[in-house]
Order: sequence, then structure tokens, then C-alpha cells
Amino acid sequence: MIVVMNAGSTEEQLNKVISGIEEMGYKAHVMRGVERNVIGCLGDERGKAALKSLETFEGVETVMPILSPYKLAGKQLQAKSTVVKIAEGVEVGGDNLLVIAGPCSVESEEQILTAARMVKAAGANALRGGAFKPRSSTYSFQGMGEEGLKLLRLAKQETGLPIVTEIMDYQMLDMVLEYADVLQVGARNMQNFSLLKALGEVRKPVLLKRGLMATVEELLMSAEYILAGGNPDVILCERGIRTFETATRNTLDLNAVPALKARTHLPVVVDPSHGTGVVQYVTPLSRAAIAVGADGVIVEMHPKPKEALSDGAQSLDPAGFDVLMAEMRKIANAMGKTVAAMQ
Ligand code: PEP
Ligand code: MN
Repeated sequence: MIVVMNAGSTEEQLNKVISGIEEMGYKAHVMRGVERNVIGCLGDERGKAALKSLETFEGVETVMPILSPYKLAGKQLQAKSTVVKIAEGVEVGGDNLLVIAGPCSVESEEQILTAARMVKAAGANALRGGAFKPRSSTYSFQGMGEEGLKLLRLAKQETGLPIVTEIMDYQMLDMVLEYADVLQVGARNMQNFSLLKALGEVRKPVLLKRGLMATVEELLMSAEYILAGGNPDVILCERGIRTFETATRNTLDLNAVPALKARTHLPVVVDPSHGTGVVQYVTPLSRAAIAVGADGVIVEMHPKPKEALSDGAQSLDPAGFDVLMAEMRKIANAMGKTVAAMQ
């Protein structure tokens, strides 16, 4: 339910409504507007009819249901786009285009430092690299673990680039939080609800990737877990879904970008590396992602893709990454967006 206050209602009336909501066992989520305030009542759907009685409170204009299952992620409570701050001078949403780049996995000090320098030189604004890898085969490289996180920290110290890295399990939360600026939830974990609940309690942005077989609505319902826990900084990521097509690793669902934009105020980024699995397709699909309205991209780049321990076939080399940056800037410009490079 949402409670819409009158345009001229007072702070005292608002506070009385909040107490009323809390007394009925719901959490009040206040959205302050220019003209009027709106309060979202979050909690058990079953008893929500009782909230209708709030219409008798002074200052209340109307009480109406939010039908969508993603109340905080949806646009009914917040029409304005959310801008998520990742680091000083690095934002995603609004007119900012976020470019996250780096290897699939952190492999060695030399590899991640070289990659970070190249990412920075090309003008991207965040470094990616997995230290804990969710591999389909248990025999594949599983990541360097905390050692990899330490190397990411070293790369950040040298370049100033904020770090985007994956968290696979809520039990790792304290460790990953020490090193990450953005916590990535991988596609395979999109519906790991204990992880999502734990991330609701942190005060760092979360990059939530769409599951391999998840709908747009399911992605938004997963985002809702994090928002409802109290963390407002969720960035959604389209990374390709599984279809009958075998020419590409996944089918990058660019429909999802405007479909998400129509439903949510949260920023949306696109991962054309996992979305295609083919290095030659990464640049064209990055251009397309920006043209279709994405707020950023996350791409895999490796100093020596042929030697990569994971996802080499979809990783750009440094020269290819420079071309990508130049092309993306043109499209971003046409879309009224800018890539704010780290100084
Ligand atoms: C990754 O970003 O390296 C990754 C494993 O992505 P996804 O979860 O989308 O497969
Ligand atoms: Mn990868």
C-alpha cells in the first residue's frame, strides 16, 4: 500500500501516519516529493487491507495498493532515476556512462596491475576482476580467493580505480566488503536469497546480474530483496540469457534494457562479454547497449587473452579495448551521456 499525503500536510501529520503504519506491523518508507510526500508500507501482503484505515488520519489524501511485486524497485514510489555513487567522481545513472573493465579473473599481480593500468589509460572508470569464480566445472580455475582480492586492492592503490568483484556466498561478506567498492552478484546467484538479504544490510553498491533463465520481473524481484533490506544502491545487469541459439554463448537480451527502464528507476548496465562469448561481437553489442539506453557496460579485457585462465575467448586485448572506448564515446555522446574518467 502507499499513503499519499495532501500537498499542504504537515511534518507532524506525516509522523503520525508513520507511527500508525508501524503500529500495524509495517515498515514505513517515506518518499519526499516536491509537492507532496508519499509513504510506502512494506510488509506482509496478507494484512494490508487494514492499512486502508489510514485514510482517516489528518493530512492523508488517499491510500492505495501497489500491485507490483517490486515496490521499491518500481516507479510508483520513485519516478526519478537513481544515481548510484561508486566512488568519488564515479556515478552510474542519469547522464553518466559507467565503464567497468578488466579480466574475468584475477590471475597474478602482473596480470591485474597491467590490466588496471590499461583500463585507466583508456579512460574507463572502474576495474573488474573475479577472485571467487562460479565455474560450471569444478575442475576449472576457481579464482585466487582472498589473495586475488589483495591484488585488486593493490591495483586500486596504484590507479585509483574502484573495484567491482564477485561475492558468491553471504559467509564471505565481511572479507569481500574489505576490498570491494561494488559487490557483484553473479548470474548463477541472482536468486540466492540469503545472499541478497545479507547485501540489503551493507552500505556499498551491488551489481546484480540477471540469471541465465530469469525474467525481467524476476530480476526486479531479486533487486527488491536488497532494497527492502535497506540498501538503495542496486545496479541491474543484463548479461545474456540461455536460448536455443548456439552461434553465441548466450543471447544478449537488449530488449531487457528498455523493458527495465520502463519498470524501474534503478540504473541498468549491460555485459556484452558474457552476453555473446565472442570477442568480435563485444564492441558492436557495447555500442548497441548504449544506443538502447544502458547506463553503462561491464566488459572483459585481458592483457593477453590467449593466456587467460577464464573467458579468454570473449576478452578484448588492450588495443581492442581502446577501439571499444573510442566507439562507445561516440554513441554515448549521441545519447547525451559522458564517461567521467578517473583523474
Ligand atoms: C563474470 O562476470 O565473470 C561472471 C561469472 O559473470 P556471470 O555471473 O554473468 O556469468
Ligand atoms: Mn567471465
